[in-house]
Amino acid sequence: MSVELLVNVSPFETRIARIENGLAEEVYIERERERGLKGNIYKGRVQRVIPGIQAAFVDIGLEKSGFLYAGDIAIPDVPDAPSLDEDAEETIDSNEDEEDNDVAVNTSRHRHIPPINTLLRDGQEILVQVSKDPIASKGPRLTSLLSIAGRYLVYLPDLRHVGIARRLEGKEERQRLLDIGEKIRPEKAGLIIRTVAEGHSEEELKDDLAFLERLWAGIEKRNQQSHAACNVHTELNLYLRVMRDYVDDEVKKIHIDSKEAYQSMKKFARNFMPEVTKRLYYYPGERPVFDVYGVEEEVNRALKRKVSLKSGGHLVIDQTEALIAVDVNSGSFVRSRNMEETGFKTNLEAVHELVHQLRLRNLGGIIVVDFIDMQEEENKARLLEVLDETLKRDKTKTHVVQYSALGLVEMTRKRTRDSLGRMLLEPCHRCDSTGYRKSPTTICYQLFREVVAEARAYPCEKLMVIAHPKLIDLMLGEESEQVTRLEGFLGKQIALKSDAQMDPEHFEVALL
Ligand SMILES: [Zn+2]
Repeated sequence: MSVELLVNVSPFETRIARIENGLAEEVYIERERERGLKGNIYKGRVQRVIPGIQAAFVDIGLEKSGFLYAGDIAIPDVPDAPSLDEDAEETIDSNEDEEDNDVAVNTSRHRHIPPINTLLRDGQEILVQVSKDPIASKGPRLTSLLSIAGRYLVYLPDLRHVGIARRLEGKEERQRLLDIGEKIRPEKAGLIIRTVAEGHSEEELKDDLAFLERLWAGIEKRNQQSHAACNVHTELNLYLRVMRDYVDDEVKKIHIDSKEAYQSMKKFARNFMPEVTKRLYYYPGERPVFDVYGVEEEVNRALKRKVSLKSGGHLVIDQTEALIAVDVNSGSFVRSRNMEETGFKTNLEAVHELVHQLRLRNLGGIIVVDFIDMQEEENKARLLEVLDETLKRDKTKTHVVQYSALGLVEMTRKRTRDSLGRMLLEPCHRCDSTGYRKSPTTICYQLFREVVAEARAYPCEKLMVIAHPKLIDLMLGEESEQVTRLEGFLGKQIALKSDAQMDPEHFEVALL
């Protein structure tokens, strides 16, 4: 399979598309404005220790000072130092990926926290990492328990343990990875094995560790050479993170449309992934790089509810709070002589589009698919086989359950980043996200009821309705007979006046 990455860099956002055999299969987007400080490491200086609240303000060279609680201070080489604990409440999420939230370092439950003034003093220099982005008037929350996320591992310079992500399933697999972790762990650091490590070899984990050790060495060097307060490590930006997380052996070419990004990726590759250096290409083309493989078009298609199939059928994909519902519909040739055959063929086509859309939209959680009904057991079984086969391309973990009692195919897909929809769309306020609004006739009849109520409540000779031209047209056309009836019923004339400024759902009833 031919796999290429397209990297589209602009000052406000970075977008990356994974192209497999000429088709955009995955899209990652990061907006500059939404990038936080979380994960960044600073050489800070303690400004003020406040024993009363067991916390300290730390100057990290930013406008607002950071806040460091006693429980978030690393105390290496102490017998009851913070330990990796699977049930811990505190979580390390140095990386923005949700999947890292399942990795935990217990900082408080199993140990006594010493008074903060025995741990820190005013003016002291300390290496700290942002654990929570600043909100409103508050400065960022800091921790001195540093952690750096790699592709499969999280590197913990202050601990000496090997931990594993809680959500990594399978007793045997957990043990295998823990054994590898123990084997490769550097003497002076701790490791956490991330959920994505599942199924990966010792060799791959070792490569990742080598990358993290180089990264840490760089941080230590900057720490020694610089003066507080300053930044010594910034969480990788999207294009560098993609190099870390998404460039595998399958990726043959990476096209980058910004000279600057190309150069920094090249530098990153030389330092951390030498084998990738030769796969980087600067794309100077006049056509936007996302137009080359029709990525832009694919993204727009992935934002719509309805997706057409070549055969004429279509999928309808609804993302609700609880689950994702996918309905498969056959095309116009429904009245084919062989319904079973047509249904089966459309279902097969739908499977490919379904997997394509799940990846492109990055949908996760419970997914329920209503395929076109089939009678033949053989076809039903074959469909699930094809689904399983097609899902193998998907690196995100999926699990297909058998047909449910009602004949629906239920499956799960691990939640990772935000879905494309959540990133690019907002709820529609006009229809309250239902996709439906009152029909003009419904509004028209609502208007008639109001006319009746007004005419009864207040004596008058004549009434006037002011409404949007669309509503007035309806009353002069299709509903004109109802208006005449209403006039007869009330014994009063109803004048109609159109006002293009008015909202089509609103109207005014005036008494004359
Ligand atoms: Zn709407």
